[in-house]
Amino acid sequence: MSKVTGKCLCETVSYEIEGPLGPIFNCHCSKCRRWHGAAFRTRASIGSDQFRWLSGEQNLTRYGSSENVTKYFCKTCGSPLISTYRDRPEVIGVPLGGLEGDIQGGPEAHIFTGSKASWHQITDSLPQFEGWPGSESRVRDTNA
Ligand SMILES: [Zn+2]
Ligand SMILES: [Zn+2]
Repeated sequence: MSKVTGKCLCETVSYEIEGPLGPIFNCHCSKCRRWHGAAFRTRASIGSDQFRWLSGEQNLTRYGSSENVTKYFCKTCGSPLISTYRDRPEVIGVPLGGLEGDIQGGPEAHIFTGSKASWHQITDSLPQFEGWPGSESRVRDTNA
């Protein structure tokens, strides 16, 4: 099974993901933009059983960005690490920016484009969704 590793800026926290990354999206929601200080957050969904902290777990801190979503980050350098979801404990959201080495695949869509930064132009031809793709009934929680 393929493995990929990632770490925070100060390298205190590191982690490992086993197996393929789930769907990869560029999330343009305002919370991801603020959290990452970027135009969007490129993130993958993975199974929580695919994920393992390798070091620095005691150096994590967390923030509940909504009732459903908890964001984990390094308390030394502030790097955004993972998101967990109360309604889907079997899933973890991981930003691709912290990963090392090559991964399979790439972003397949832009999501939450309704919140896109006015100064950012989407110039590729990937599909764009106002919220989560194909799930109108899902809680419109702008927290990928
Ligand atoms: Zn760090
Ligand atoms: Zn988002």
